[in-house]
Amino acid sequence: MKTLCLDVGGTKVAAAVQDGTLGAAVRRPTGDDPWETVIGLLDPLAAQGVDQLGVACGGPMEWPAGVVAPLNIPAWRGGFPLRDRLAERYAVPVRLHNDAVCVAVAEHAQGGWGVADLLGMVVSTGVGGGLVLGGRLVDGGTGNAGHVGHIVVDPIGPLCPCGGRGCLEAVARGPALVEWAQARGSKARDGVELGRLALQGDSLALQTFARAGRALGVGIASAIHLLDVRVVAVGGGLSQVPSVWPTLRRTLAEHARLSFAKDVRVEPARLGQESGLIGAAALFDDRYWSAD
Ligand SMILES: [Zn+2]
Repeated sequence: MKTLCLDVGGTKVAAAVQDGTLGAAVRRPTGDDPWETVIGLLDPLAAQGVDQLGVACGGPMEWPAGVVAPLNIPAWRGGFPLRDRLAERYAVPVRLHNDAVCVAVAEHAQGGWGVADLLGMVVSTGVGGGLVLGGRLVDGGTGNAGHVGHIVVDPIGPLCPCGGRGCLEAVARGPALVEWAQARGSKARDGVELGRLALQGDSLALQTFARAGRALGVGIASAIHLLDVRVVAVGGGLSQVPSVWPTLRRTLAEHARLSFAKDVRVEPARLGQESGLIGAAALFDDRYWSAD
């Protein structure tokens, strides 16, 4: 089976063909007209003849209908029927899921963890996740199971983009970290600069990432107790910042005290920027698809 895969994000759209293994990915900036970008990438790949199309897209979305309304794609914020439009244009079966869910699926399918129970997380502009239990993707009632970004880690913490307060995402998402550091005098303009400062030993940057590590440790400890997963694979830009990990591990050890929670492996995700595409293709494995 030849699977066309698509990963639609706020800044970039990626596509590739998986035929046994994943072929070279092509990428373009999402731009103001994301549909034009999508078909510009897919048309030449689809012309080779493909059997099915797997899609990872930023949320929120109606699942499994695949009407997407990504927070960071203004043109689609009112809702865009991506699954139907793709099925119509390419005349192949289309399966679509949240991009963080696809990352979790990819880690379970190809990360080599060797476990049936895994929480996959993406910590970058937002914080998302996906949940595999008993070797199968758990969707929940509306396809949002595993959305670990809105676990509350500080009830009197900062406001969250969701309208709540003190969610893990409100504390640990990249823009929130930059804002927190800037309010204390940091000159960092974005998360990448903040990460570079931390590597140079800048104490405010180190403090900022330590704070993110604490929030992640609290959130992950709660998730581990609730879910009894054996592995938490943490992906996204923040997982690549070394100074996050010592406080994450210390906080986790403080809060994950029950015997079953102590030996859970919490580690950086193993697959790189291709993981959204790999997970999108894996949606055609019925372990990871429970809908229609
Ligand atoms: Zn929230």
